Amino acid sequence: MRITAYGAVEGVTGSCFLIEIERYKILVDCGLFQGDFDGNIQEFPFDVREINYVILTHAHLDHIGRIPLLVKRGFNGQIMCTRATYELGRLMLLDAAKVMYEDYLIKSRKAERRGETANPPLYSEDDVIESYDFFTTIEYNEKVLLNDNISFILKDAGHILGSAFVEFFITENNLTKKIIFSGDLGNQNKPIVRNPAIPDDAETVFIESTYGDREHKKFEASKKELKEAIDYAFSNNGNVIIPTFALERAQELIYLLREMYEEKMLPPCRVFLDSPLAIKATELFKKHIEYFDKEARDIINRGKDPFSFTYLTYTRSVEESKSINYFKGNSIIIAGSGMCNGGRILHHLKHNLWNSNNCIVFIGFQANGTLGRKIVDGEKFVYIYGEQIKVNARIFTINGFSSHADKLILKNWLSQIRSLSNVFLIHGEKDIMEKFAQYLKANFIDINIKIPKFGEVINI
Ligand SMILES: [Zn+2]
Repeated sequence: MRITAYGAVEGVTGSCFLIEIERYKILVDCGLFQGDFDGNIQEFPFDVREINYVILTHAHLDHIGRIPLLVKRGFNGQIMCTRATYELGRLMLLDAAKVMYEDYLIKSRKAERRGETANPPLYSEDDVIESYDFFTTIEYNEKVLLNDNISFILKDAGHILGSAFVEFFITENNLTKKIIFSGDLGNQNKPIVRNPAIPDDAETVFIESTYGDREHKKFEASKKELKEAIDYAFSNNGNVIIPTFALERAQELIYLLREMYEEKMLPPCRVFLDSPLAIKATELFKKHIEYFDKEARDIINRGKDPFSFTYLTYTRSVEESKSINYFKGNSIIIAGSGMCNGGRILHHLKHNLWNSNNCIVFIGFQANGTLGRKIVDGEKFVYIYGEQIKVNARIFTINGFSSHADKLILKNWLSQIRSLSNVFLIHGEKDIMEKFAQYLKANFIDINIKIPKFGEVINI
């Protein structure tokens, strides 16, 4: 069997791995490259018509974002994932198509003025809808037989709702090999989702390494930091602005603020979830409590809504969003995008960043080049909608709410897998993966640790 890495190698986006065995071709994930890389518009490095199956680990765009493109270019196989991944994935893909179209309109106006034309969007909302027909949903721990020699199981990865790692059972020459793709693995003791499941055994594992160079702070310590930010802003009659990702992070934050409200840790205030996408994702979460951990299910079984409390308002329309600015102080405003490179958060940063009474709280990864990263890195001035804004607000970076496992959790996860001989590090920045490789080599003397390159063929 051959496995080729076509994405999320020496980087964290564009996840895509091709498994070839006999005449079968299977993809694990088909994600968007995000950032500057133009890998999305290029041809796929394989014949899409020959792909029999795509197995998706979870609904983040860096794992599913090129699915409509795959279908548009002639894919005619089956796409398999959990039901939550399918439903959240539809939402994320439709939103991606909308954002691409809006981006295209802006770029084409600028291009026209230069006498050029802009690249059209990768796909339209119609292309997204077209791709729905190819999906088949499966349950966690259900063994799926693709043929006599290839089967797989999805197990809970504890990363976002419905996220999974894939355990393949592949028989060649009467010998069955077990290969695991971790997808993104979750942090421990997170709200809503369960802890990642532990595989029993496997010869080969492809494991994500986003945070392979660090240990996260404990969740409780991060909750205290958030409380400190809220107390600071409210004691100055200021606001707390929290840029957030729409999927999972927003729901976890609402869940946490409700918990703080019930524990009387939250002073009287207004909390706004100002993101139509996050609001829609929250509605889907409520439809899929079967994926929740016990604590979250218990809240629902007691007849309560874990995503609602007296101070909280969901703001859907643009008018509602704008009206938030009429309130002066004592507001917690949660809006996207998570890295401040678009969306309603820009509007709130423009109104709050210049004032030292306010706090900006970053709870997610801020990639190089984004506005969020500039603020986190301590730039004194930033540009928002072409206007120079002084960074006067107090900045908090809280990492204990991460949806990714840290190096300790990743190592412990690997250490529980019996018969492990090969580990391939994927889905991480190059320097972080090198540090993680050293860390693992010191802990696992008998295991081969490798970092594959883009297009590298691995024979197993
Ligand atoms: Zn993810």
